[in-house]
Amino acid sequence: MTETLTPVLGEATVEELRQAIRGPIVTPEDDGYDEARAVWNGLHDDRRPALVVQATGVADVSAALGFARSHDLPVAVRGGGHSVAGFSTVEGGIVIDLSKMRGVRVDVAARRAYVGGGATWADVDHETQAHGLATTGGLVSTTGVGGFTLGGGIGWLMRKHGLACDNLLAADVVTADGRIVRASDTENAGLFWGLRGGGGNFGIVTEFELALHPVGPIVYAGPIFYPAEAARPLLRLFRDWSAGASDDLTGFVSLMTAPPLPVIPEQWHGEKVAAFVAVSPGAIDEAAAQVSDFRTVAEPIADLAGPMPYTAMQSLLDPLWPKGINAYFKATNLASLDDALIDSFCELHLGAPGPQCEIHVHQMGGAVGRVPEGATAFADRSMPFVLNAVTGWHDTGAADEHIAWARAVNDTAADSSTGRGYVNFLGDAGAGRSSYGPETYERLTALKREYDPSNIFRLNQNIEP
Ligand SMILES: Cc1cc2nc3c(=O)[nH]c(=O)nc-3n(C[C@H](O)[C@H](O)[C@H](O)COP(=O)(O)OP(=O)(O)OC[C@H]3O[C@@H](n4cnc5c(N)ncnc54)[C@H](O)[C@@H]3O)c2cc1C
Repeated sequence: MTETLTPVLGEATVEELRQAIRGPIVTPEDDGYDEARAVWNGLHDDRRPALVVQATGVADVSAALGFARSHDLPVAVRGGGHSVAGFSTVEGGIVIDLSKMRGVRVDVAARRAYVGGGATWADVDHETQAHGLATTGGLVSTTGVGGFTLGGGIGWLMRKHGLACDNLLAADVVTADGRIVRASDTENAGLFWGLRGGGGNFGIVTEFELALHPVGPIVYAGPIFYPAEAARPLLRLFRDWSAGASDDLTGFVSLMTAPPLPVIPEQWHGEKVAAFVAVSPGAIDEAAAQVSDFRTVAEPIADLAGPMPYTAMQSLLDPLWPKGINAYFKATNLASLDDALIDSFCELHLGAPGPQCEIHVHQMGGAVGRVPEGATAFADRSMPFVLNAVTGWHDTGAADEHIAWARAVNDTAADSSTGRGYVNFLGDAGAGRSSYGPETYERLTALKREYDPSNIFRLNQNIEP
């Protein structure tokens, strides 16, 4: 019965945990084990945890953590399960899965959302948009609030309202020693600093308190697609435009392959294209005027930018990035985007090994840049752009060429990088130190020693105690 459980665990021991926990506990012997252990990135789906604990509340989380400690089991914490580097699963260990903790309560008067540690952005948008409110969430709505917010959180509202971590007002946290604490500007302020960019290094957040803003329900949004030949002038325009764009708008360029969607003319399906997207929660007319140059920089293949429901924009990309796809990302913060770098991106785009190889350039600045450097653990605020080389593939034999391509895109930007990278966009483990830079990393290390000296939370861009 127990041959696939780790040797230290017998049925009786697991039964002990069942008595302490209200949520389901799934072991390799149970029906539904493969579903329970599955994470978003198929590349990491071979891992077989000894236990998946589907916690239903703070007490379950604390008990599961205590069990892991006393049985010396490696711990993976799972929010939305979207970790590109595969941090939310673990071979032979315990997964503390928060996906049953997805409640979202909105305090309309205070403009706050109280969000369960396992909620996705779709959960948050659904509840908050019922009140015409929103906060910065991900470009794909199935992404978890947990990992996203703790790492920083780049999204369509960020230049107006800040990163997701800038909208974090407080958090309920289960620490490595099982304590249940609150972190905010006034309680455990050091921990609160670390939660805003330091990833899951310091504890398990069971509830996020997030600031909300009036948004939509209709916003200016949507992609404009161009032929790949237009990528050079598009990126140049994007660079120059970004410097003076209103904070209402958050812009983005993707060098990609046209997906087979009915909104794109059929002859372009599967062809290399470039896309520009800008989202504005501000006045529709003003947003349209601000992006008018993007309508003349080249003849668009398909122009889908205009008024649309905010929730439609938030889920527009979901079908392109389904659970189970193999994926690898590599990213760096760009201090500049000069013509030579644009040329390199365009060449690499044309040589991409598969249809889901995308060069993303995110426009930063605005409210993100106005937070003082070092005020949060997401410390590098200087960059005008963030580069993310994103790859996805279904044929398992295609991993090496996709990973090599993403690394080549990143390498070509080395001279233009600030030297830092955004932890949530990194497909490799072990990039913590270089992502944060020496000063922030030192402060994070001191915090890690205080809150997790034995490094129980090590499946993340790890801060070594
Ligand atoms: C398709 C896709 C689209 C994305 N788009 C964006 C984007 O637009 N902007 C952006 O900034 N990033 C984006 N990302 C990256 C994303 O922010 C990270 O993958 C993030 O870690 C996902 O969070 P999660 O909760 O879903 O992940 P998980 O895999 O569940 O967790 C990731 C890490 O966070 C920890 N963690 C999760 N929840 C908690 C919690 N409640 N308490 C403590 N630790 C926790 C985990 O232990 C793990 O170390 C995207 C990723 C994917 C796969």
